[in-house]
Amino acid sequence: MRIGHGYDVHVLTEGRALVLGGAEIPYHLGLLGHSDADAALHALMDAMLGAAGLGDIGRHFPDSDDRFKGISSLELLHRTALLVEERGYRLGNADITIIAQAPKLAPYIPQMREKTAGVLGCDVSKINYKATTEEKLGFTGAGQGISAHAVVLLEEL
Ligand code: MG
Repeated sequence: MRIGHGYDVHVLTEGRALVLGGAEIPYHLGLLGHSDADAALHALMDAMLGAAGLGDIGRHFPDSDDRFKGISSLELLHRTALLVEERGYRLGNADITIIAQAPKLAPYIPQMREKTAGVLGCDVSKINYKATTEEKLGFTGAGQGISAHAVVLLEEL
């Protein structure tokens, strides 16, 4: 087994959709980024790439590349899973923590698990999402951005 950790942050801004864990969440702000800025999936991908010894998403999907402009992070996750598979690994399980003062994310967690597991071709029981506020502390607590951590185990194919 191999272990990996990922961390990501995106700024909340007007005029963007809020997408986390592949789920569209109704909110008056969204995350700013080159892709759909799904911080949760970006943390997950970094954790998977880290566990496989494959660097990070910036190396594989650079934000200077127009092919990735506005791309769904579910598509990037699919490509990440293929890279990991080429290395001889598949996901054992993933635990993802999203840090957001608002909106309330709990109602969308089942959808995030289903979307993520669907792309990875694994059982939803292998994908765990948690959401927490930051008690109004720091940039996440002030609602300026949303961050996410992910820890994964990869198993040999
Ligand atoms: Mg990112």
